[in-house]
Amino acid sequence: MKNIPVYCFILLFLTACSTSSTGRNQVAFYSDSELSKMGTVSFEQMKKEIPISTDADTNAFVHCVADAITKNVSTSVHQGEWEVVVFDSAQVNAFALPGGKIGVYTGILNVTEDQHQLAAIMGHEVGHVLERHSNERLSANKLSNVGLMVATIALGASDVDNKGLWVAGLGVGVQYGLIMPYSRAHESEADIIGQELMAKSGFNPEASVKLWQNMSKLSKDAPPEFMSTHPANETRIKQLSKHLDISQALYVTEKKQGNIPQCVKPKVIPTPAPVSKEKKSS
Ligand SMILES: [Zn+2]
Repeated sequence: MKNIPVYCFILLFLTACSTSSTGRNQVAFYSDSELSKMGTVSFEQMKKEIPISTDADTNAFVHCVADAITKNVSTSVHQGEWEVVVFDSAQVNAFALPGGKIGVYTGILNVTEDQHQLAAIMGHEVGHVLERHSNERLSANKLSNVGLMVATIALGASDVDNKGLWVAGLGVGVQYGLIMPYSRAHESEADIIGQELMAKSGFNPEASVKLWQNMSKLSKDAPPEFMSTHPANETRIKQLSKHLDISQALYVTEKKQGNIPQCVKPKVIPTPAPVSKEKKSS
């Protein structure tokens, strides 16, 4: 704090302010190319540390859903091919990173019942990328080094739920601040954007509600990794149900055009037994 002139902050915000597609104010200091680079480095590291699935059917299923989803992502977010990797891990987890990267753990495929539910997960994760949440998060961390209090005031304390994001000290992948820990504002935004994205890609958006209901049941025993960053609470399920009006219309349009992907979930997804030494990835 120490008398840092307020106009510095005003200047900082004027150059770094933007608005998310749901109308939330964002602060983003990093360029898309910087973010892409961080996403790529992070992804390469994960590929070195976590075994990659070579099961053909499992890979075909995940790639089929990913192709349908990423086809509908603007090239302003990512140009060129998306890299999709199936990690051979019992962890119930999935993520998307700036730079066109998607990671799906075999463990989460046993929770998702069909292509629609996998599309719900992927839509949500890609939604975080579309809304540049990691940029916001990293920028928040940067600000916290400058003057947390001033920044909070400058942000108008508009996003009190994001306070948890201002804490540094994250794990793998997360060390770049690219994989999202729970923040109500970001999760809610990714849910909405993700549901619309899956519907536009020809997947039934109702599956998003079913998915989170299943997740919610799952978290009652031993909460899996994905649930620690994505609590399947009632608010989330309610919001997704409410937004179905809009998403269903998008889905119906695709259906009329016969644009429905046919990604078949294999009967058996080979998944390794949980390994306790495996590092946390989000
Ligand atoms: Zn999320």
